[in-house]
Amino acid sequence: MSVKNNLRNILAGLGSVQLVAVTKYAVPEQAQELLVAGHFMLGENKVQSAALKAEQYKQHPVQWHMLGHLQTNKARQAVRIFELIQSVDSPKIAAALAAEAAKIDKRQKILVQVNISREPQKYGAAPEDTETLLQYCAAQPALELLGLMAMAPDLADKELTRPYFREMRALFDRWAASYNLRILSLGMSGDYQIAVQEGANMVRIGSGLFAEGQR
Ligand SMILES: *Cc1c(COP(=O)(O)O)cnc(C)c1O
Repeated sequence: MSVKNNLRNILAGLGSVQLVAVTKYAVPEQAQELLVAGHFMLGENKVQSAALKAEQYKQHPVQWHMLGHLQTNKARQAVRIFELIQSVDSPKIAAALAAEAAKIDKRQKILVQVNISREPQKYGAAPEDTETLLQYCAAQPALELLGLMAMAPDLADKELTRPYFREMRALFDRWAASYNLRILSLGMSGDYQIAVQEGANMVRIGSGLFAEGQR
């Protein structure tokens, strides 16, 4: 399957759900194939990789999404590259992004990342700390808080990811009106169909687009 065919098949199943194509493991030719096919919403885990690729693909109107953990010393570069930073996980990084965005008169769009599975190796605010972080972000004029992002644990039986997505949907519903949340970013190649069934309106797919064969 070509990248273009994978894209077409995935989009056909998504309806109005937005697709972030995660290019972290894609070779430039594969990402180019996506861009030529008209898909411009791309995700990366590292500021450095996005900076490099933004330069490589600059003839295309790419909308970059940041998906990985951000260090405060990368905030300056991040606000210059990313349309949406999905991985805001502490007041500290929110403050750094707000300060850097203000300097360039930008209102940086962000999502708050929740560590819904409470895995120690995963980033994201603990569920019980999430509302404090939402309050903090909502109070920053240079940040535009749009929603929540989370990852399910990597489980062999994908059906077991469902409770995590359901819990995220419940958190989203609890806070959507107070914080004007619109985006619920859940689901990767292996589990995005379950995430969509549970209410995700944005999915992030890498290997399902770019790996040989199809998932
Ligand atoms: C890598 C990554 C993805 C995509 O993962 P695939 O399994 O390749 O689809 C999605 N979200 C985040 C946060 C990632 O780091």
